[in-house]
Amino acid sequence: MKFLKEYKPEQSTWESDLKIIDKIKVIVPLKILLVCNSIVAKLDGEEFSIVTSISKRSSDTITLSDDYYIPKQKVTAGSIDYLPDQYSHSVVIHRHPDNLNNFSRTDNEFINQNFELSLLYTEKEYFVNGVFNLKYEDAIIPVPVSTVIDYGLEEINIDNIEPIIYSTCVDSLAGRNETKGLNDIDDFLYSYEELLGEINELNSRLEFIENELQQYRLTEVVT
Ligand SMILES: [Zn+2]
Repeated sequence: MKFLKEYKPEQSTWESDLKIIDKIKVIVPLKILLVCNSIVAKLDGEEFSIVTSISKRSSDTITLSDDYYIPKQKVTAGSIDYLPDQYSHSVVIHRHPDNLNNFSRTDNEFINQNFELSLLYTEKEYFVNGVFNLKYEDAIIPVPVSTVIDYGLEEINIDNIEPIIYSTCVDSLAGRNETKGLNDIDDFLYSYEELLGEINELNSRLEFIENELQQYRLTEVVT
């Protein structure tokens, strides 16, 4: 009860500076995705696995390196057997068939525990699952991850590109379609004479059509 009386949330909360992490964000470079897509294209539906490493890490975000290695492995559509090989990467990515977005028991026992970070990839949805093994003393605590692909496009600055808004207008004075930049506003200003001339021309065309119609009706009546 003493605690309840003294607790004043508006003034200070304990350890308010600490983040609560229920998922670790994993940033995967585009190249790693393209490597996976490319291996899929070279295989015939089999699973496979590649390894990479962590290039940057904060308490809640891990960035993967775009260096990778393809370990020696024997694969089928539902299994991967790792063959004796030498590498020291801490991240493993393995492929599952589409819609199989969860780690199997075998994955947990033989793949996930041997790497710091394990990601699951499918051709359809890319990186669909993952687990980060947080080390604490003599234990590992598996923390789920959410994956984002770094397309490397955020820093594109298009300040130097100035779009001109174009609109197509029919320049009937010149008798042709012309595309003009709206910035050249003078191109749209006709003189009074030009407009009058155009109206007159339209009028005479109308008269001509009316005459033609009239004649057509007459001949129709005659025949
Ligand atoms: Zn698996």
